[in-house]
Amino acid sequence: MVFTPEDQILVGLAVAVVAIGVGAFYIYSSKKPKVCLDPEKFKEFKLVKRQQLSHNVAKFTFALPTPTSVLGLPIGQHISCRGKDGQGEEVIKPYTPTTLDSDVGRFELVIKMYPQGRMSHHFREMKVGDYLAVKGPKGRFKYQPGEVRAFGMLAGGSGITPMFQVARAILENPQDKTKVHLIYANVTYEDILLKDELDSLVANHPDQFKVYYVLNQPPESWNGGVGFVSKEMIQAHCPAPANDIKMLRCGPPPMNKAMAGHLEALGYAPESQFQF
Ligand SMILES: Cc1cc2nc3c(=O)[nH]c(=O)nc-3n(C[C@H](O)[C@H](O)[C@H](O)COP(=O)(O)OP(=O)(O)OC[C@H]3O[C@@H](n4cnc5c(N)ncnc54)[C@H](O)[C@@H]3O)c2cc1C
Repeated sequence: MVFTPEDQILVGLAVAVVAIGVGAFYIYSSKKPKVCLDPEKFKEFKLVKRQQLSHNVAKFTFALPTPTSVLGLPIGQHISCRGKDGQGEEVIKPYTPTTLDSDVGRFELVIKMYPQGRMSHHFREMKVGDYLAVKGPKGRFKYQPGEVRAFGMLAGGSGITPMFQVARAILENPQDKTKVHLIYANVTYEDILLKDELDSLVANHPDQFKVYYVLNQPPESWNGGVGFVSKEMIQAHCPAPANDIKMLRCGPPPMNKAMAGHLEALGYAPESQFQF
């Protein structure tokens, strides 16, 4: 077989195109951040920092395998954490990181530890250098920017973590104009989690993010709500029922039940509500 000069040029061009394609693929793959979570199997992450935030709340920072790795958690979803309770029995509980995939190389959990809590025992015992077994992502919550005009959020205690994650994702995306109205309930002022972070999000996005704190036992000087979250508080501080809003709930079971009742009485359609 005889190759003409034209054939040789064509073969040369084809080789060059393939080489460029292979090169581009390798550059793209090496730049794509490594996703760490596996939905099928527990993976171990090293605790690199533990910061006590109050007598029973601590922030745990875990390292990802490389400084450019991302956890790979869709907004508003959570992870399953596995540990041992005080009797040495295995326990698995859901937690929502307060970090996003834009926080590369690490993820953080803000954990409230209950005296009798089984997984609370595991976290209380964890020291820097220990490993935590984590599986995920988990959860039914899905979010596309611009999907709703506004979110109303009803959070209690550690139920703030998924709300914080969703609010951060919205407010840190300049293209996302969704409004967020959060009512956050706690027993005492000291129980309020992530208060500095929430207040700074409000200060930076005053037209887009509003927070109304509610306390059972408020301090002497207090301009937030008092008691349990009521229908009137929801009417005053959350978007009114409409097709383009969504109400999110996350708190202890009695609070979730009470909030579901309030939302139904106020006329929010079931499809415009979500419980984490
Ligand atoms: C989607 C999702 C995300 C979550 N994210 C977080 C998070 O980021 N940080 C976090 O700290 N928790 C979070 N939680 C709660 C967490 O999963 C556990 O329920 C919590 O840590 C208690 O587990 P435990 O095994 O220590 O307590 P358990 O052994 O289940 O309970 C022991 C006792 O602790 C008390 N208790 C337990 N849970 C609560 C509660 N919610 N409110 C009031 N009292 C309670 C009760 O008195 C109970 O009898 C989340 C829950 C869900 C569903």
